[in-house]
Amino acid sequence: MPIHLLPPEISNKIAAGEVVERPASAVKELIENSLDAGATEIRVEIREGGRRLLKVIDNGHGIPVAELPLAFQRHATSKINDAGDLAHIATLGFRGEALASIAAVSQITMLAHHQEENIGSKIVIHGGERIALEPAGAPPGTTVIVENLFYNTPARRKFLRRPATEASHINKIVTHYALAFPDCRFRLLNEGRLTFQSHGSGNLQDVISRVYGPAAAKQMIPVGDENSVRNAEQAPLPLVHGYTSLPTLSKSNRSHISIFLNQRWIQDRNLVFAVIQAYHTLLMVGRYPVTILHIRLDPDLVDVNVHPTKAEVRFRDPRVVFQAVQRAVRQAVVESAPIPEINWPERDDPGSRQPGMPIWPRQTPANNDQSTFAFPPAFNREQDAMLSPAANTPRQSSIVEPQPPTQGSTKIPPLRVIGQIAATYIVAEGPDGLYLIDQHAAHERILYEKMMTEREQHDKGISRQQLLAPLTVHMGERYAGILAEHLADLGRVGFAIEPFGGDTFIIRAVPALLSNMEPQHLLEEVLEGLAHNENKVTSTAEGRMVTTICKRAAIKGGQILSVKEMRTLIRQLEETKSPRTCPHGRPTMLHLSADQLASRFGRIQ
Ligand code: ADP
Ligand code: MG
Repeated sequence: MPIHLLPPEISNKIAAGEVVERPASAVKELIENSLDAGATEIRVEIREGGRRLLKVIDNGHGIPVAELPLAFQRHATSKINDAGDLAHIATLGFRGEALASIAAVSQITMLAHHQEENIGSKIVIHGGERIALEPAGAPPGTTVIVENLFYNTPARRKFLRRPATEASHINKIVTHYALAFPDCRFRLLNEGRLTFQSHGSGNLQDVISRVYGPAAAKQMIPVGDENSVRNAEQAPLPLVHGYTSLPTLSKSNRSHISIFLNQRWIQDRNLVFAVIQAYHTLLMVGRYPVTILHIRLDPDLVDVNVHPTKAEVRFRDPRVVFQAVQRAVRQAVVESAPIPEINWPERDDPGSRQPGMPIWPRQTPANNDQSTFAFPPAFNREQDAMLSPAANTPRQSSIVEPQPPTQGSTKIPPLRVIGQIAATYIVAEGPDGLYLIDQHAAHERILYEKMMTEREQHDKGISRQQLLAPLTVHMGERYAGILAEHLADLGRVGFAIEPFGGDTFIIRAVPALLSNMEPQHLLEEVLEGLAHNENKVTSTAEGRMVTTICKRAAIKGGQILSVKEMRTLIRQLEETKSPRTCPHGRPTMLHLSADQLASRFGRIQ
């Protein structure tokens, strides 16, 4: 439709606000315009962090000569017609404000050549005032040149950061649109230097590799079925597809979880949480995945007219979307979590391992709290290397290539128990080498799944053991409050407790798994776990209690096991849904492949 002014009754319904706060927000609006115009190639050039110059060139359908001046008027758009259109927006833009806002605070030149016209035209506007409008030779598509952004608004100019910082914000915008539109070829040039490009091949994994580096891309696994999303006409919505990292690749914050709704990059704390939840017990607390998710949803079921930058949206039924995201990511992650390889330095690099240095992480019984656990150094080093933009530097020699995920299999290989070392680790042989199993972590996983199954399958919840005589306990101020607050949760995990006034409670039953423990101590420990883990991945109080109970009930390191006990443990571990990690996300086992052994013994080079 031609560009036209929206009547006030519609423009008043549009979420208003300042959209151009910094160069990156102008880039965002210009790229959105290019994509709405059907561009398959977008080139962004910046100088001095975008403040001196910001140029966006596209090969979209362009703008007719007659409509060019109108494009810069406030509330002029070609994307919606009436208030009804606001309810199902299929374009990235719709407010008709971006060009007007940018033109008001910069010196802007637009060259446009509409696909159905013979000649293009050029318009120049300085601080909102038209300086020139003339026919011009221009390639098909649209070029926008924004110079001296905020030259006439010193207050806003003052808030700009160093050019490098502004450039990194712009980089983030460009890379995210590249992830949202794998079919479109993006290029970003900073001071004339190409700093990012995507090929426009349509392959999301290609773009991920460009954004995060090839090494990280290798550790990303597919979520959902991309084809079902492409041919989604009949498929039930919402559809979720994308890529998410294996638990071996994680970050210390959640900013690497990117969510796109109908190709719009959105900020939605709930959906980010759905992704994090999907890693529940698979990722260590305080670690977050790298995730790129596309959600496809009927535009009628989402309101994008909530926030001026259109980054926040409102779902008609947020729960359905939350569950679709959580389910898709969970399935992908559980199916592909690999067994971590034992990191062993190269033979020709004797300095890198001190004599006597353990090849597996040290985890003594007294020191097995998740906060003190560390993955082998190689994991951390590799993660960091992979997430820096210069990730294509050669791999460090001591880093072991992680096992490719065994697609479609959640299982561990069949293992033959050989023995136990340090009364803590079970040594086993598998089809491809040696496996070391942490007996405590493995048992925790077994108990955790047993309790969760009990909770789901039995109305009464987790099985409990009645005390022979009810026990009256004084919990003290510290615990009485938390206890009173969580009586119902405690009931669901196997306790039966009644308040008896003040800090006094009567314990009638405890979880059957822990019936041999002194009830008050046990209760205090569970409450302590609850208080300590408030903000962690295990989100529900019930979940946190179950984890504490499992940790307490699991066999400890330092406990000698018979071969029969070890075999039983391994069999039970094989039967769990996520045998490779304990409920806190630590690995239950490490693997040393036959090839690694052969190489260490000099059998192969
Ligand atoms: P909106 O995108 O919300 O409609 P804008 O102010 O960003 O508002 O743009 C106004 C109009 O200018 C758009 O509706 C579109 O018709 C036209 N336009 C802007 N940029 C481009 C472009 N790169 N290619 C084609 N048309 C464009
Ligand atoms: Mg726009």
